[in-house]
Amino acid sequence: MSRVSDDKKPTSLEDPRLGDLGAPVEVRRHPKARRLTLRVSRTRRAVIVTLPTQCDLGEAGSFVHRHIDWVRERLGNLPDPVPFEHRQVMPLRGVPHRIVFVQPQRGKGVVHLHKPARGYKEIRVAVSDDNGPQRLRKWLFQQARKDLDARIIAHAERLRVRPKKLTIRDQTSRWGSCSSTGALAFSWRLVMAPPFVLDYVAAHEVAHLREMNHGPRFWALVDEAVPRMEEAKTWLQIYGMDLHRYGVSD
Ligand SMILES: [Zn+2]
Repeated sequence: MSRVSDDKKPTSLEDPRLGDLGAPVEVRRHPKARRLTLRVSRTRRAVIVTLPTQCDLGEAGSFVHRHIDWVRERLGNLPDPVPFEHRQVMPLRGVPHRIVFVQPQRGKGVVHLHKPARGYKEIRVAVSDDNGPQRLRKWLFQQARKDLDARIIAHAERLRVRPKKLTIRDQTSRWGSCSSTGALAFSWRLVMAPPFVLDYVAAHEVAHLREMNHGPRFWALVDEAVPRMEEAKTWLQIYGMDLHRYGVSD
């Protein structure tokens, strides 16, 4: 019988009974799992089965098969992914922009913003071969870093703290984090959100350099720093997940 490997990497499940789900089925083995569990990841558009150590892949397949209607319904309710492709529309700093892949132009950078007389604002990416998506992604990371840097400096000066390091990455679980050593990390996807939302997340993590908790003193610091704190928290609750639709690659 096939066994799920012990390493942390998920095993992808191929089971003819499942048909074409339009999403990968990943099997993860967890020593503490008591029973099989099933979930559909919104951010990664994947079906994830967690297995106790004793179970084999065949049982995982049967389990998904038994719940196939639930899985299909959950997958059907997910918003469509928006890949970084020519003519797709994505938000930048809270404003919808059309992605336009163009021929390299003299005197223009690799990526520049363009405002046509009508229609969406454009993110124009000079492409050669098929490197448009990578170039756009790299530029968005740079923009996220630039925006976050500026807000972090402002909040850190006010609180008289010194962040050690700023990392921008594609993290799905949290918008930002602050380590006990003072290193800050943020999701690049914040650059798609309205600036007051990015500002809130920056202020939140910087405030952790003074208060490494979520107590009343911590929230008072954030509240002082960003007047639209509650609005930003609500925005992330309602629209945050949607930001995970963009530029997904597997
Ligand atoms: Zn926090």
